[in-house]
Amino acid sequence: MNFREINPSPRMLMCPGPVEADPRVLRAMSAHILGQFDPEFTSLMEETQEMLRLVFQTKNTQTFVVDSTSRGGLETVLTGAICPGDKVLIPAFGRFGYLLAEILERCNADVTLIETEWGTVFAPEQIEEELKKKSYKAVACIHGETSTSMMQPLDEVGKICKRHGALLIVDTVATLGGAEVKVDEWNIDACIAGTQKCISAPSGSALISYNRAIEEIILSRKKVEKGIRTVEDIDGKLPQIPSNYLDLAQLQDYWSPRHLNHHTEATSMQYAIHEALRCVLMESLEERFLRHKLNDKALCAGLKAMGISIFGDLENKMPVVTAIEIPEGIDGKVLRYEMLNDFGIEVATSFGPLDGKVIRIGNMGYSSQKRNILFTLGALEAILLKNNVKISAGDGVAAALQVYCSANGN
Ligand SMILES: *Cc1c(COP(=O)(O)O)cnc(C)c1O
Repeated sequence: MNFREINPSPRMLMCPGPVEADPRVLRAMSAHILGQFDPEFTSLMEETQEMLRLVFQTKNTQTFVVDSTSRGGLETVLTGAICPGDKVLIPAFGRFGYLLAEILERCNADVTLIETEWGTVFAPEQIEEELKKKSYKAVACIHGETSTSMMQPLDEVGKICKRHGALLIVDTVATLGGAEVKVDEWNIDACIAGTQKCISAPSGSALISYNRAIEEIILSRKKVEKGIRTVEDIDGKLPQIPSNYLDLAQLQDYWSPRHLNHHTEATSMQYAIHEALRCVLMESLEERFLRHKLNDKALCAGLKAMGISIFGDLENKMPVVTAIEIPEGIDGKVLRYEMLNDFGIEVATSFGPLDGKVIRIGNMGYSSQKRNILFTLGALEAILLKNNVKISAGDGVAAALQVYCSANGN
């Protein structure tokens, strides 16, 4: 037999997800399995919920983990909170905005899409103007639109939604743990994030939090399975959630002190999330956001010094993703291949109108390190020079180093 041992080549994951997992997270994953109703395990789940509330900056009781990737988290929350026929407004500014529309259309929601050019975000007034036209049940939008590297400011949007009586549902998959996300202060009713981006655990789980308003909708759609129902379990009045696995009504019971059986919890993944959230809080949110900002500043300074154009409205660029316009004289595929093959560094292309036009560089979680930024700039410079692209040699890494030196007060 000649099957390979799992022994992957060393890589520097400088793409917008997945990124490198913190080594402490990988070690936690190798701990032995506990049964899912072992009090030792359920108390770890409770700690995870407590830590997750701190990371989401919320007091929401309903704050827990869904066993699916972030996309499944989006589907779980949208399928649970939105009933057939509900009017939902989606301000889309990239690929993931369209994903929200795609999921909601399958829920038979009445979706209205407003769009803005890729590389820009919405002014709050544009959203308010639409909310004045009819009575919306909810606004669903992306915080950090990874496909374009744009970040939609949300504080005003939250106030506007509240004023117009619309729920605000937000995808913070790419930003949570790397940039400020304030669920309560920004009036976000439901928030969805992932594990493989700035949280720095492997992919495979979604992190969610929602308030009482959403919980009430969920409870009025609740139906407990015949095999486990008791006399206490009364069916809700609204249409049942059309998914069993992603049924928030059952999931929130599973994550409640009742721990009502639903699926078998993914023990090792729970260890990973527990450890990843602990690492985030040990560093502190404030320090973590500053680290991402500094590395972003160094990366952008390096790119500019090389003469590379950064894509989009720089005022609203995510600090955790940078899209660069592919310089003339090199194919984006060649650039990515040589970065991976010669340097072991993974960067990403984009989608739709930006496919082949930009390369996206991630600066997320454990991958957001000074040495990674400097290596990435150095590798990019070497590959561009090798392909006879005109850039100013040597300036990129030097400019980034200068940013680090100034930050240290040198
Ligand atoms: C990565 C990403 C997703 C999808 O996440 P999966 O974990 O691949 O399902 C959704 N939304 C945004 C904004 C993302 O960046």
